[in-house]
Amino acid sequence: MMRLFAKLALGLAASAVATAGAQAAQLVQASPSVWWVKGDRPGAAISSVIVTRDGLIVMDATCRSEGTAVWLKGELKKRFNLPVRYVIESHDHEDHICDLDVFDDTAVTIAHDKNREAIVREGRNTSVPDITFSKEATIWLGGKQVKLLYFGPTHSDNLIQAYLPDEKVLIAPDFMQRGKGLIPDFRDMDVDNMLETWNTVYRMYDIDVIINGHGGVSPKSDILNNIEYVTALRKAVLDEMVKGTPLPKILETVTMPEFKDWRGYSMWLKADIVTMWDYLYRKREPNVGPMHGAWQNVVDKIMNGAAEATNTANPNAAEE
Ligand SMILES: [Zn+2]
Repeated sequence: MMRLFAKLALGLAASAVATAGAQAAQLVQASPSVWWVKGDRPGAAISSVIVTRDGLIVMDATCRSEGTAVWLKGELKKRFNLPVRYVIESHDHEDHICDLDVFDDTAVTIAHDKNREAIVREGRNTSVPDITFSKEATIWLGGKQVKLLYFGPTHSDNLIQAYLPDEKVLIAPDFMQRGKGLIPDFRDMDVDNMLETWNTVYRMYDIDVIINGHGGVSPKSDILNNIEYVTALRKAVLDEMVKGTPLPKILETVTMPEFKDWRGYSMWLKADIVTMWDYLYRKREPNVGPMHGAWQNVVDKIMNGAAEATNTANPNAAEE
């Protein structure tokens, strides 16, 4: 109770600041029943709201911008005066779900099984899910159908999407980049399953609007941009690894000039190469050669306290 009160007080202060600014958070309608929160900072995580005659469903919240969960609660009360019956958490990353416990008084929280595990393990500042699922779930509320989809590990091991077939809307935080933009590193991504999932969603789902996790909405065709970039980067890095090029050299040779006009090129390309390399390194066995079997040598030297051995024994291990 104290915690909620503190959040409400903070929210009032934040609202006052937002009102004074030029770009206060606002609810934007994406389809007859679906709204999303446009915050004051383009990179802030987006909340979505599904409005039905019997109540509301909220997916995600931000805590790094205007449009926080506390603000949203007040705004929904003013605008719709309906209880929030369900909260959906897209995945466990805290910037997408922070403070969602402000809806615990009326809402049941739903997420993937592995989301709950991560939230509890990390002590996330959010609502701990009441209901979890492993593959697929459907919410029926006020005559609306909301399908919760899980395609296996993609961006994190617990990312889900909410799909409204009647309105052809996919709410898909951190599923892809909007327009033409580089992904901010692949550290937390199962690259191959992500590619497969993009292809599946593109081919199998009837979608007019995708609500992204950041920046705004997309047409379905934006999925193709993501497939194009990740496929090209995967190939470029893998080709170099097969040639035996060490990572520092790959960072020089893989420049992906065909993407130089895409958003985030100068900021993210090197991080993308490193994390793509790391992903592929775990999947790939080089041919037998002078370096084959060198890993045990590295381990032995590390165990003997010679950590610098990683720089000499294995060209692949050396670049981590
Ligand atoms: Zn995320």
